[in-house]
This record gives sequence, C-alpha cells and structure tokens, in this order.
Amino acid sequence: PAVTDTPAEDAALATPHTEVGAPIVRITALRKSFGAHEVLKGIDLDVMRGEVVAVIGKSGSGKSTLLRCINGLEVFQEGSLTVDGKPLLHDSAQAMRELRQRVGMIFQSFNLFPHLTVGGNVMLAPRLVKKRKPVENEARARALLARVGLAEKFDAMPDQLSGGQQQRVAIARALAMDPAVMLCDEITSALDPELVGEVLRVVESLADEGMTLLMVTHEMGFARKVADRVIFMHQGRVHESGPPDAIFGAPQTAELKQFLSSLH
Ligand code: ADP
Ligand code: MG
Repeated sequence: PAVTDTPAEDAALATPHTEVGAPIVRITALRKSFGAHEVLKGIDLDVMRGEVVAVIGKSGSGKSTLLRCINGLEVFQEGSLTVDGKPLLHDSAQAMRELRQRVGMIFQSFNLFPHLTVGGNVMLAPRLVKKRKPVENEARARALLARVGLAEKFDAMPDQLSGGQQQRVAIARALAMDPAVMLCDEITSALDPELVGEVLRVVESLADEGMTLLMVTHEMGFARKVADRVIFMHQGRVHESGPPDAIFGAPQTAELKQFLSSLH
C-alpha cells in the first residue's frame, strides 16, 4: 500500500532496485575481529526481498556485530557484503553514504533527537540527505507517523512520549529514508512489558506490507509468528537456521536445544 501522498514517490518506492528474487542483503564468508578476538567466524547469509529473518542466540554470539557490519558501522576483515546489489566498500565515503541510505536501523535505545519535535525527528534526514522538499517532506512524515499510530504527535517533544511511542517514532524516522532493508536490534528490550506489544504490532505491519526485515529479537513468540526464517547464532557462526516451526519445534543441534530451554 502507498505510504506517501505523491504518485512519484509511490512509484519510486515500488520500483525494485534489484530484480525480483535477488537478495537485498548478501553476506559471504564474513569475518570480523576486534583485535585478536574473532567475533564473526565466516557468516553466509542472504536476505531476500520481502523476507523477514529473525536472528536469535545467546548474548555475545555476534548478533549485534553482524547487524552493525551490514549498515557499515563496523569494518570487517574478510568476506563480502552487498546491499541491494551494491558491494559495501569501506574505503569509499560515497558508497558508505549510499549504503546508509538504503539500510534502516533501529536500536534498543530509541536515540531520538531530544531537542527536535517528533515531526522534526522524522523529517531531518530526508531534508539533509535526500534534499526532500519541505511540503513533501512534511506530508511523508505525517503519513509515516500515522502509519505507526502517532498522527497526533507530530508537534510533541520526544520526552513527552512513552518508550513505546518513542520507539515507534524511531521506526517512522527510519522508514522516511525509504530503506531497502530494515535492521532491528532488540528493539523492545528496553521497554516496559506493557509497551512491547504496540511496537511489535508496528513491526508486524511492516512485515505484512512486504518490508525486508532482519531482526535480532528475544521475543521468541513474535519470531515464530512473523519470521519467514530464523537464524540461530552461536559463537560467531550461523549454527542452525530454518523456518520458525523447525527451529522452535524441532531444533537439531545440542546448542540450539540448550539455548531454547534456557529461555523458560
Ligand atoms: P550479541 O549482540 O549477540 O550479544 P555482540 O555482537 O554484541 O553480541 O558481541 C559479540 C562479541 O564481540 C562479544 O564478545 C563482545 O564482547 C565483542 N564486542 C562487541 N563489540 C565490541 C567492540 N566494540 N570492541 C571489542 N569487542 C566487542
Ligand atoms: Mg546485541
């Protein structure tokens, strides 16, 4: 469904940058170390257009580092990574800027700009980076805030919102850049339990609308319901992966069995 008020933008959103069936994220033999500590030990992972991939695993298994490599926040030593068909080249500032425009990321902490209104938060990057015109930018921002259920908060300041509302603004802000893929790193972990559902419902609606999602989550019920595929990471490797019913219902490896039984 359309998320903008302008036909040109809708067309731009609907135009695939890669052919249908091509991976939006393609990761091959990726290795990443911090000093002598190898944290990612050869990751192969493709995320297809419209696919929802959940990443699970113990703390320290490398989940956040993997996401941070995909949006260029971390430099990796070996392997290759392409986003929307474009290779990630750390030595090209221009390539990195383009990459960041194509990859949306939402963190556990919402990181809204505290001195800007909600609308200002959503409009900032499109104005600065995409040079989106003010009238169109505001229309997009209002449409996106409506999409996350916050139409009436356009002029509010972030500290007037609950954590769940702030996280939904962060989602709208990421969507405003028209990302090819959205990376979510434990985006409900900092929320009070009663606020988790409203954020997960927004993520589920994005999944339903065909957004490509790669999400690290502790919400196993949510992963089981929404993900097309689940990746279990263990000690810097994809240790097991498959459809949610297989991963949760018939885990194959001792490590995954142990991880799942540690959850309850
Ligand atoms: P997860 O998200 O699965 O909990 P992380 O990707 O955050 O795991 O961390 C994986 C490993 O990398 C951990 O051992 C962590 O201590 C280490 N690590 C993460 N970030 C850094 C960093 N900036 N410097 C050094 N070590 C790091
Ligand atoms: Mg993490």
